[in-house]
This record gives sequence, C-alpha cells and structure tokens, in this order.
Amino acid sequence: MITADFHVHSNFSSDCKASMEEMINQGIRQGLKTLCFTDHMDFDYPSIYSYSFGMEIEDYLKELRLMKEKYESQIEILTGIELGIQPHVTNQMETLINKYPFDFIIGSVHVVDKVDPYYPEYWEKRSEEEGILRWFEAMNEGYKSFQGFHVCGHIDYIVRYAPSSKVKYNEYSYAFYSDVLDEILKTLLKYGKGIEVNSSGFKYGLGHPHPKTEILERYKELGGEIITIGSDAHQPEHLCYDFDLVASLLKEIGYRYYTIFKEGKPIMERL
Ligand SMILES: [Zn+2]
Ligand SMILES: [Zn+2]
Repeated sequence: MITADFHVHSNFSSDCKASMEEMINQGIRQGLKTLCFTDHMDFDYPSIYSYSFGMEIEDYLKELRLMKEKYESQIEILTGIELGIQPHVTNQMETLINKYPFDFIIGSVHVVDKVDPYYPEYWEKRSEEEGILRWFEAMNEGYKSFQGFHVCGHIDYIVRYAPSSKVKYNEYSYAFYSDVLDEILKTLLKYGKGIEVNSSGFKYGLGHPHPKTEILERYKELGGEIITIGSDAHQPEHLCYDFDLVASLLKEIGYRYYTIFKEGKPIMERL
C-alpha cells in the first residue's frame, strides 16, 4: 500500500481552493502516513492568464510549520514545492532553493515559449504532433538548464490539453516521440533525478498516469529507480487518486520500491 502522497496542492496555489487543513484531514481519513505539500511557484508565469502560480513563500512555510506541529501525532507533513521550469528563470529558482530548506522539489514544465498549453492559443499555430513535440523539447532544454529539483513532474501531461481526443486516448504513444522522450529520460538520469508517477491522468480519464506505462518501462530499462507517487490533488477528494492502480502498474512493470524524500534525501519504500 502506498502511504505517502507527494504531489498535493492547497490554497497557496491559485488554482486550488482547499486549505492545508482540509487536505490533511482527508489524508488522515485515508490512512496516509506522509503528505507532502507541493504548491506552485512559477516565476514569470505569463501575466495575461487569470492564474498567477506564484505565492508568498514565507507565509507558505509558516503555515506548513504550524500544520506540521499541530498534526504531528497523526500524520507527517513535509515541505515541498512544484517549481515551474523555464530556462530564463534559472537564477530565481536557484536563489529560492538555496534560501529555503525544502524536503522535496518537483521540477515541472507548465509554460513553453511563454505560452501555457492549457489555453487554446498554444495549439492555434501548430499541429498536435508539433505542439507535443515542442513541449517535450522544451522540457529537455529546461532540465539541461536547471537541476535544483528531485523529480520531474507529470512528464506527458501535455496530451491532456491536446485539442483532439484521438491524441489523448489513442494516438499518443511513446514510440512516436521516443527520440525526444529518451533524451529527457537520459538528461534526468545523467543528473541523478527521478520521475513522478502523477495519478491525475486517471482522473482525467486518460486510462494511464503521467507518464504512461511505456515511459515508466523505458525509465526502468535505462536504469531509473527513483519514482515518487503523487495525486496532484487540488481538492481533498482527489488525494491518493487511484493509488492502488498506480501500485499494481508499477509492480507489473517490475518496480519493487517507490521513493519518498525528506530533507532532500531519498528513502525507498516497498510497493
Ligand atoms: Zn504541474
Ligand atoms: Zn501540481
């Protein structure tokens, strides 16, 4: 049984309304031993959008300290963050992670060429294949420019926003993008980084987590061992979403452990 959720948001993220306390209480109800909050910090998130994905970091850390103490006897609360990687904000990210002691850092890509693919404009001037390919290329560029994170967030979540449901459900495959996906995995392995299994893919009805099975298989084949598991919950009821499916998928692939991080150090837990 997976007893740690390592990708959880609270209302310190502009796309989440739930308080830390609501998330924590749900975690306790679900029998979690460890809950790691990973609220958004995206430097230079395009200001034209309604969300900002920045936060008051001191307030966030203060609230986390309070929660950690208050719930100490019931659940372990850890201090994480989900950094939005763009090559031109490397210095700001470095300053942040050097200043504050995070248990765990997810390096995610949310914006490519100053556009968030959640919005249709990303897809207007290119085909779906081009949009997905450009996304993966930008991820690789991002991970080459900045390594101050522990795992790469939701590798293929771009397919969620592809306009055609065909791409979402059928046509998207590791094989089609294998060159660039291999480059990403090799970049991550070169720097000793893990990947996360983000179960929100199940929630979005894609039938697989992010990344999908073939990428998890390929990461293992290339020697990858560090896998964290997170629901990316923005609402209490989505905490630990389909973690039982994630566990059986990982075991089928041949993984025997998943990883949690404390004070930046990996700890292997049996699946
Ligand atoms: Zn994300
Ligand atoms: Zn997230």
